[in-house]
Amino acid sequence: MQDLPVSPSTFLGYTDCDYLIVGQGICGTLLSWNLQKAGKKVIVIDEPQPFTASKVASGVVNPVTGRRIVRTWRIEELLPFALETYTTLGDELGTRLVEHCSILDFFPGLQMKESFEKRLAEETDYLHIPGNQEALTTLFNYHFGVGEIRSCLLVDLNELLAGWRTMLMQRNSLREEAFEWEECLVDSSQVQYKDIRAKVVICCEGVRGFTNPYFKNLPYTRMKGEALIVSIPGLPADNIYKQGINIVPWEDGLFWIGSTYEWEFTDLMPTSAWRLKVEEQLKYWLKLPYTIVDHLASERPANMERRPFVGVHPRYPSVGILNGMGAKGCSLTPFFAKQLTDFLINGTPIYHDADVTRFAKVLARTMN
Ligand SMILES: Cc1cc2nc3c(=O)[nH]c(=O)nc-3n(C[C@H](O)[C@H](O)[C@H](O)COP(=O)(O)OP(=O)(O)OC[C@H]3O[C@@H](n4cnc5c(N)ncnc54)[C@H](O)[C@@H]3O)c2cc1C
Repeated sequence: MQDLPVSPSTFLGYTDCDYLIVGQGICGTLLSWNLQKAGKKVIVIDEPQPFTASKVASGVVNPVTGRRIVRTWRIEELLPFALETYTTLGDELGTRLVEHCSILDFFPGLQMKESFEKRLAEETDYLHIPGNQEALTTLFNYHFGVGEIRSCLLVDLNELLAGWRTMLMQRNSLREEAFEWEECLVDSSQVQYKDIRAKVVICCEGVRGFTNPYFKNLPYTRMKGEALIVSIPGLPADNIYKQGINIVPWEDGLFWIGSTYEWEFTDLMPTSAWRLKVEEQLKYWLKLPYTIVDHLASERPANMERRPFVGVHPRYPSVGILNGMGAKGCSLTPFFAKQLTDFLINGTPIYHDADVTRFAKVLARTMN
C-alpha cells in the first residue's frame, strides 16, 4: 500500500485554506459559494443562532422604494444578477430558491394613490395597475385603489442557508463555533486562527461585526425589525400584499407579516406593543380570519450611507469584509459577493461606492 503524502502543514497540525470566512448568513453563504466555485479552499466558522437577520428576513427584492417610488440603487444590474445567482445555486442544491412575484400596493390614502399614478406614466417597467381587482375585494378592505409593482423576487432564505450549510458540512468546510478575535493572529500575507491558516479572513458577521476589532469604526447604525408568522387560510400565496406592512408568502403555506424599522431599542426581543398594532391594522384591512403562529425579531446590519462594505482593510490586506447590507441583503449580496471574489482572486476593482477603502481614514485608526 502506498503511503499518503504528508504536507508540512498537516505534520504541524495546521489546516491550510485560502479563505477563512466568519459568519454564514446570506453574505458568508454567497461568498463561500463563489470562492469554492472558483476552486478555492474555504473554511466557514458560524455559531448557530436562531434569530439572525438572514433567518428573520422575508426575502423580498423590491426594485422601487420610498414615498416617491423611485428605483433602488443599481437595481437594473443587481436584480438580474440576483435571479441568476439564486437560480444557479438552487439547481446545485436541488431545490428552488427564488420566485418571481408582484407586490400589490394598497394605497393607504389619496396622496399615495396620486404619487403612484404620477410615477406610473414614467416607470413603465415596474409599475402597473393590477387586473382582476374584483377578487381582491373579497380578501381585503380598501378605499383608495391598488397599484402593482412587477418583477419583484421572493427568495427562500431559510432554504438557502440550510441547504448551503449541509453542503459545507459534507465538504468538511464548516465549523459550528464562536469565532474569537483575540485568538486570530494577522500579518500582511496570512492569518492564523487556532489550527487554521488562511491567506485572508473575511468578516461576514452581520450586526456582530459592529464590534469587530478591524472594522468597528465603520458608520453602522442600529435597525431592529419584527415580524409575525401567520396562517391565513384562503389567501393566495402568489403575491406580496402591502399597506404600510407587507404580507409575504413564507414556508409551510404560512405568511410573514412585517416589518418595523426601529432605531432605538434596548433589546432584540419581539414586543407585544408592535404585535397589537399589527393586529389592529389587520382588523381593518384583511377580511380573512388568521392565526398568529410565531413572532420574530432581529437587527439589520445597517449603515448611514446605505451602501455595502466590500473589500479588504486598507492597513491589513489579510482581513476582508462583506457586510452592511442593511434592509437589502437579498439584492445586494449576490452581486457584491461576486465582486469580492473577483477582487480577491484577480484584483478586479470593486465599485468605489461599495469598496470599504472609501473609509480608509477612519479605518486607519483601527487597533490604535
Ligand atoms: C425583520 C427583517 C426583515 C428583512 N427583510 C428583508 C427583505 O425582505 N429583503 C432583503 O433584501 N433584506 C431583508 N432584511 C435584511 C437582511 O436580512 C440583511 O441585509 C441580511 O440578512 C444580512 O445578512 P448578513 O449575512 O450580513 O448577516 P446575518 O444574517 O446576521 O449573518 C451573520 C452570521 O454570522 C454569524 N456570526 C457573527 N459573528 C460571529 C462570530 N464571532 N463567530 C461565529 N459566527 C458569527 C452569525 O451567527 C450569523 O449566522 C430584513 C431584515 C430584518 C431584520
